[in-house]
Amino acid sequence: MKRLVLILGDQLTPALSALRAADPARDVVVMAEVRAEGTYVPHHPQKIALILSAMRHFAAQLREAGWHVAYSRFDDPDNSHTIAGELLRRAAEHGATEVLATRPGEWRLITALDDMPLPVTQQPDDRFLCSDSEFAAWAEGRKQFRMEWFYREMRRKTGFLMQDGQPVGGKWNYDHDNRKAAKPDLFRPRPPRFDPDATTAEVLDLVAAEFPDHFGRLRPFRWGVTRANALEALDWFTQNALQHFGDEQDAMLVDDPTLSHSLLSPYLNIGLLSAHEVCAAAEAAYHAGKAPLNAVEGFIRQIIGWREYVRGIYMLHGPGYADQNALGADRALPALYWGAKTDMACLSHAVAQTRDLAYAHHIQRLMVTGLFGLIAGLSPQALHEWYLSVYIDAFEWVEAPNTIGMSQFADGGILGSKPYAASGAYIHRMSDYCGDCRYKVALKTGPDACPFNPLYWHFLMKHRDRFASNPRMAQMYRTWDKMDDVRQQATLSDAEAFLRRMDTGKMV
Ligand SMILES: Cc1cc2nc3c(=O)[nH]c(=O)nc-3n(C[C@H](O)[C@H](O)[C@H](O)COP(=O)(O)OP(=O)(O)OC[C@H]3O[C@@H](n4cnc5c(N)ncnc54)[C@H](O)[C@@H]3O)c2cc1C
Ligand code: SF4
Repeated sequence: MKRLVLILGDQLTPALSALRAADPARDVVVMAEVRAEGTYVPHHPQKIALILSAMRHFAAQLREAGWHVAYSRFDDPDNSHTIAGELLRRAAEHGATEVLATRPGEWRLITALDDMPLPVTQQPDDRFLCSDSEFAAWAEGRKQFRMEWFYREMRRKTGFLMQDGQPVGGKWNYDHDNRKAAKPDLFRPRPPRFDPDATTAEVLDLVAAEFPDHFGRLRPFRWGVTRANALEALDWFTQNALQHFGDEQDAMLVDDPTLSHSLLSPYLNIGLLSAHEVCAAAEAAYHAGKAPLNAVEGFIRQIIGWREYVRGIYMLHGPGYADQNALGADRALPALYWGAKTDMACLSHAVAQTRDLAYAHHIQRLMVTGLFGLIAGLSPQALHEWYLSVYIDAFEWVEAPNTIGMSQFADGGILGSKPYAASGAYIHRMSDYCGDCRYKVALKTGPDACPFNPLYWHFLMKHRDRFASNPRMAQMYRTWDKMDDVRQQATLSDAEAFLRRMDTGKMV
């Protein structure tokens, strides 16, 4: 009996579990460009273009390898424009009675496949280094999850940077050597840019015509769309940028949006690179003397640690993870997140960069757009939809735990032990944004004070009952208690006046 083999836009891996379970001689691969996937949130045009072009290249590769691929192009007049609709259409066309799939990375689609009127077998997605059952076993019986403990298990399991059962260099984590501020450097190597080939050029025209209202610039489009491109990007990173990754990991510069970050997340997340090969390449660079241990350990930790950890939490928690709102934050997203003018230079730069590149690095996401959302009490669901929309690498299994958990503490502390709350001093220390800002980071109150300063205290006071007993936050509350009454009142009323201005649509 013929089966359909579903390949989604983030499953572009020849060794995918669904393909391994299928038979090229009798089964039909189904790939579909559907409007529903491009619009369930308004994805950035570059993200849609990346996925459609990479899908077209991957389909060609599968055909060359002997697969029969039923590929629904966006402009196919019979396209039903949903994944379920295309599976049913292809099943009728080919007389197939069963679907083989690799479990999607989003509960929305897992449920849609479960609800199909056709039997669908969802194979585990074994591109991840930690399976769902391994994560569940690790989590079992733990009162608190902490990434660092999970990471050590993953080091032991994968053997990355391990020697005779011990971490190379004697320590698990070299973060205290990392995270310095950075200076603009005209000679800092720039990541490779890939000129659109004919397939990408055609897709870019399609995206421009079909998704004209989505936030974000479509062109110039410089992302790679094939495995060969992704391998080139990986090679460039390990040879040129990895050595500075640790030092510059948390730095932010107006004129250097990517610093020494890898820009590999889109390729990892759609399956053009594997987590294992990326870490192996970084480890090889260390052994070849091309990059120091603090940089390589920090980089590998992001992948076998954070990336696997957030996915484990998303899958373990089940479909409701992104609906949590432990701090009861409910403020609407101000228009500045969609590019409206703001006087806050840090937000203005981070959002403009996001609009132009569909990319911001981790600290821009966590400590600028995320931090503002947290201390201003923005709705975590509105932020979740924003992050899922605007980044080239955004897929719910990784975006939701980062937004709802790490950045907004809306999961009440499942993912991390304390909220990433900070004042403007943090942004000033790690960036050059404050220099051209209308607000003054050194001022704590008054009309010219950096808004992050009063909002920070306002947030801490609003949630005092929840956080005052957290040993990692006690010092902040002691500092507040030592301030005189006048300063405390001025701080809180400045924060409230700012929020009122923002809520009534005034430029802030
Ligand atoms: C609010 C918020 C939303 C985020 N949304 C996404 C998202 O939708 N998709 C996504 O891939 N990452 C997301 N991240 C994590 C991180 O910001 C990106 O993985 C990273 O910026 C990608 O750029 P890069 O490849 O240059 O990363 P690098 O800084 O070069 O890091 C190397 C790799 O480590 C992995 N990594 C690093 N940090 C994390 C993390 N916290 N969680 C998971 N993987 C990590 C990524 O695969 C990344 O490619 C989010 C973080 C925050 C705070
Ligand atoms: S002064 Fe405040 S608002 Fe302005 S860039 Fe610095 S941190 Fe951002």
